[in-house]
Order: sequence, then structure tokens, then C-alpha cells
Amino acid sequence: MQSALETSVRVRFAPSPTGYPHLGNIRTALFNCLFARHHGGKFILRIEDTDTARKVEGATEAILEGLQWLGLNWDEGPYFQSQRLPVYHEIIETLLETGHAYSCYCSPQRLEAMRQEQAKRKQPPKYDRRCRDLTQQERTSFETAGIARVVRFRTPLEGETTFCDLIHGPVTFKHDTLDDFVLLKSDGYPTYHLANVVDDHLMAISHVLRADEWLSSVPRHVLLYQALNWQPPQFAHLPMILGPDRAKLSKRHGATTITEYRRQGYLPAAMINFLALLGWSLDDRTELLSIEELMEHFSLERVGKTPAIFNRDKLEWMNGVYLRRLGHDEFVEEAMPFLDRDLPDSVGRPLDRAFVSRVLSLIQERAKTLGEVPELARFFFLSELQYDAGLLLSGKLDAQSAIGALTVAAQRLEEAATWDAAALEGILRPLATDLSFSTGKFFGLLRVAVTGCTAAPPLFQTMAVLGKEKCLKRLDTAVQMLSTDSN
Ligand code: GLU
Repeated sequence: MQSALETSVRVRFAPSPTGYPHLGNIRTALFNCLFARHHGGKFILRIEDTDTARKVEGATEAILEGLQWLGLNWDEGPYFQSQRLPVYHEIIETLLETGHAYSCYCSPQRLEAMRQEQAKRKQPPKYDRRCRDLTQQERTSFETAGIARVVRFRTPLEGETTFCDLIHGPVTFKHDTLDDFVLLKSDGYPTYHLANVVDDHLMAISHVLRADEWLSSVPRHVLLYQALNWQPPQFAHLPMILGPDRAKLSKRHGATTITEYRRQGYLPAAMINFLALLGWSLDDRTELLSIEELMEHFSLERVGKTPAIFNRDKLEWMNGVYLRRLGHDEFVEEAMPFLDRDLPDSVGRPLDRAFVSRVLSLIQERAKTLGEVPELARFFFLSELQYDAGLLLSGKLDAQSAIGALTVAAQRLEEAATWDAAALEGILRPLATDLSFSTGKFFGLLRVAVTGCTAAPPLFQTMAVLGKEKCLKRLDTAVQMLSTDSN
């Protein structure tokens, strides 16, 4: 029994290329992929590109690239609905012949006037079924006059249908609440409803896992399946993703397209882990799960009904965890392209890999995204730092004592025989006492002088990586800045 079900699982991700893929789209793709892998089934990719007016240039490429980047590899496809028009036309003929569909010749102007009239009366927009019962003669005269037609579904006027959603349970709808919806548009393209049902059937899809917003389409789909004498697949509608303020997720909440997350330096494994927990959980506690663990444990029983809440801080935290888990060499490998892309042009290329590697050993612990790495590491690479001299005095120092301390520090460091963190600490810690400075003040001053910032990786290790020459030069520059400033 079990194995028959297992081998027959076929699910699909069916995005429309009407925009760049956002988190919600990718979460749908992920749940489909996990479901397929968990059951040893097939994951199919189908591009629903029948809405020619809303098609966005580059969206299909972004979808494919996003899925590949995340490792959500499809077993079949991508199928393109725009290349399957004859298939839909054939089904339309069948529906017309069996009387489940009819041609409608109402002009867009008439439909628009009707919609406005209904809106005025606060009625839901609904086609008034004027063409539902045209005679053969009337139809022929419209055709001969060359009037454009759409094909509509002949929705039953009475009765009701119930289907069982795997997440929401039984859902019943009354037929009289439904419209005679369009199946084939006047441009010859099928609507979403027709193409979606036809393809799910012909591609032998066993389970439809998609966002909640499509739940209201199921009644129309079920009626279509019945009209065509086809067995509907099982439906599972995934909870919405909302922002922390429970409003529809948007840029405002720090959510963006998958392309942009990649650009900002999120790791695929962290994205997958994060997305999996938007609507599903293993046990309400476990936060960190690899893709293999997700495939092993994913089940629809643990998908929630209530909306999932997107939390950008959690995504960043999780990405930081995955970055720290990388081996040093792997981290260098991942971060290198970001340094190349975002370090200022004044930093010579190609970057010195050995130096990059030493720098990154101090950055890996601190970065939450790879995109932050160039900013955090920048001062290591610059030949001159840009900062305000006042920053040197942020430890509540006066300029004269700061100049004095930096000058003595430079002299002592000049004499250093070795240049590693331990040696530097051995020189600088006692010097703080000699100068009657607290270590906090003294090291803070040095930190600004050598990095140009008040927060940076540990001071002695930073100075060790920077090297003697750069450090001494920076101390000298700091003294000069303070001197010019105090004159
Ligand atoms: N093309 C629809 C979308 O863009 C697919 C809905 C479905 O999965 O049936 O989301």
C-alpha cells in the first residue's frame, strides 16, 4: 500500500513569470520539493506564462536561477504553458461539445459597464450570463460578423460541492456563488484556471501544494475536473506569510526577492532552513535543520493553518549561524566574490588571497551576511582611512594626551622584534599602565587609529594582520590629524 502511494507522488511548482520570485513563491517551491523527496516522488517545474500582459522580462530566468541556487532541483520540466496552446484548444473543443462551456461575444465595453453598475450597487462582479444560452443561429451571426469571443465555463446554477483540503479540512461551496468564469481568452490563450487544471491532470499531479490565496479557486477547478470526467488531485493550501505587524509581507518588512537575498550574501542552506519554518515545524522547538533532515521529516500534518510570521532578524541570525559553521577555507571561498564586488576600486585587484584569508579569520565570527563582509573588512585593505579626528577622542581624552600616547606607542612598536598578537599585547598592555591610561581608553584610542572605527575585531589580532608598516603609518596619521585639529 505504502509504496504505491510513495511512487505515485508527483507535485509541481507552477509560478507565473509576472514578477521576480519572492519568499512566498520560494516557500511553495520548497514545500513541494520536500514533499516529493520525503515520499520518493517527482518534483515538476511548470511556468504558467499565459498572462501575456503581465509577463515581466527576466522573471522566468530569475525563477530558474533562484531554484538552482537553492538546490531545489526539479525532476521534470520546465514546461511552458505558452508552448502548449494546442493542448488547451483541444480541451476547449471537448468542453464546448459536451455543453460544459460556451462562447461569449460580449464586448469588453459591455462587461466594464456591467462591472461598474454592480460596483455602484455594491454587488460582487459577476457575468450576467447573457451568452449562456445563445441559439446556434445567434452564434453563427456573431462569428460571421468576426466578433471576438471568449469561452466561459457553464457553472451549474444550483447545488454545492465539497472537497477536502489536506490542511484546512472539508470545504463546501455553493454553485450559485460562482461566476461563469472565462476558460479561453480572446487572444487564444487559456486562463489560469483552465491551463492549471489541464496540466495538473495531464502531468499526473497527485498533490497540489500552493499558497492559501488559491483556495478560493478550487471550487472552479473541481467543477472543471468533474466536467472533464477527471479525478482531481489532493489539495493542500499553505498558510500565508505575514510581516510582524500581521500585514501582507512586503519590502517594508525587509522581505525581498530571492535574487536580492543572494546578492546580499545569504547562504542557500540558511535560506532553506528559514523558509521551511515559515508554516512548518518539526516540533515547535528545533530551529536548525539541514535540507537532508527537512526531507526526512517534512509532512503536511505539521503544516499550520494560521499565517506564518516573517522575522528578518531571525533570518539574519540564522545566516550568521550557517556562516560560522563553514570551514575557514569555505568561508573564504564564499566571501571572495563579495570582496571583489564591493571593496572600493582603490583597492588593487586581484586581491591577495593569503592576506584575504588572514583578514577573514577575524571577520567570520562577526558577519551575519556575506554582503557585510566587505564593509567589516574594508579598513584592512585601504591605503588611507577616512574618519573624523574627533573619533580618536571618543574615550573622553584630550588631544594632547592622545597625541602623547600614540607617539609613545609608535616608538615602542617600532622596536618590536616580532609582530604577532601575543607580542603586541606584551608591548601595549604594560604601556597603558606606564601612561596611567585605563586599558579601555588606550586600546580604544589605538583601535580608532588603526581601523578608523570604534568597533572592530580584537585589537592585537587586527594589528597583527594589518602588519607593522600599515599600523605605524596609521598611528602617525592619527597623530598628525590630532595635531592639525588642535592647532
Ligand atoms: N501560477 C500560479 C502562481 O503564480 C500557480 C498557482 C497554483 O499553484 O496552482 O502562483
